[in-house]
Amino acid sequence: MSDFAARVVAWQRAHGRRDLPWSGRDPYRVWLAEVMLQQTQVSTVIGYYTRFLSRFPDVRSLAAAALDEVLALWAGLGYYARAHNLHACACAIVAEHGGTFPRSAAELQRLPGIGRSTAAAIAAFCFNERAAILDGNVKRVLARHFGIEGFPGAGAVERELWRRAQALLPDAASMPAYTQGMMDLGATVCTRARPRCGACPLARTCVALRTGRVDELPAARPRREAPVRRVQMLVALHRDAVLVEKRPPSGIWGGLLALPQFDGVAALDAAAAALGAATPVRALPARRHAFTHFTLQFTPRVARIERLAHAAREPGACWLPLAQIDTAALPAPLRALLREVAAAHSGSTPSATRKRDTML
Ligand code: SF4
Repeated sequence: MSDFAARVVAWQRAHGRRDLPWSGRDPYRVWLAEVMLQQTQVSTVIGYYTRFLSRFPDVRSLAAAALDEVLALWAGLGYYARAHNLHACACAIVAEHGGTFPRSAAELQRLPGIGRSTAAAIAAFCFNERAAILDGNVKRVLARHFGIEGFPGAGAVERELWRRAQALLPDAASMPAYTQGMMDLGATVCTRARPRCGACPLARTCVALRTGRVDELPAARPRREAPVRRVQMLVALHRDAVLVEKRPPSGIWGGLLALPQFDGVAALDAAAAALGAATPVRALPARRHAFTHFTLQFTPRVARIERLAHAAREPGACWLPLAQIDTAALPAPLRALLREVAAAHSGSTPSATRKRDTML
């Protein structure tokens, strides 16, 4: 075993994390955690993971579920393509592998939504395969320790990191401890800000520490101003419900419920009038939500509708009871907005007139 790997394994056994709910050798639990942890912090994931696992305890129960239920449990975690892929992957494991996870990283990587690093994590933890992981935390540890210049997402830099990661692997028996050790080091010691080099088992050979470049490595993503997409969103309130539409399965917030969206105010006003809005539509302050490639700036416009004048039977459109906004499959920024709207609405609606939801 390389000296590097030996130090990581020894450190993990003495100081690594042991209390994570997905620790162990069950590929379903490891896979679920790995997918949830992509772009999301451990502290956020734990609650979602526990709820998800109690509803879907194994891959067969997940495959048998309706996608809408999976999305509802995922709502708030973001990056919803992950939830679509999770469901598709469970279906593929049941249909093509008899409900049993394939045992090699190469086979795992052929399943929907399982990339090279996730496949390696499952294969290393559950089947002791000598396959390297390379998530953001591990990239940071390697870039600092070996003094690798350049943005880790750039092709040539990433290839060099993969090469290093694979070359450092220990024997098969040590793969679970080594893989967990690399994850733990990146998450708890070699952190993005204020790394604890004094507690690091790699300090003795760390190039960044020796050359005073810990704060410079890894290089940041080259700055590129994200474009801003501006839209208007209709918050149509009727009795104690709000009009929502189901988003198309692909694209942002794929398959989730969202507010009707318009490019301009005139089109939104016309839609509100067609529904029967009698009072003027009231604009709330614009909000912003950052996606990977652009920023969405949306202006919510609230229309109160006493008598529905128009029953536009849009497929997937419905009146969502405000009492259900915490459990419906809504993206986090719209859930936050609707909580505020619901609080203001309950203060202005006489309880005697409140009725339940009405499907369009
Ligand atoms: S010595 Fe510091 S910079 Fe180097 S790997 Fe350890 S924590 Fe990271």
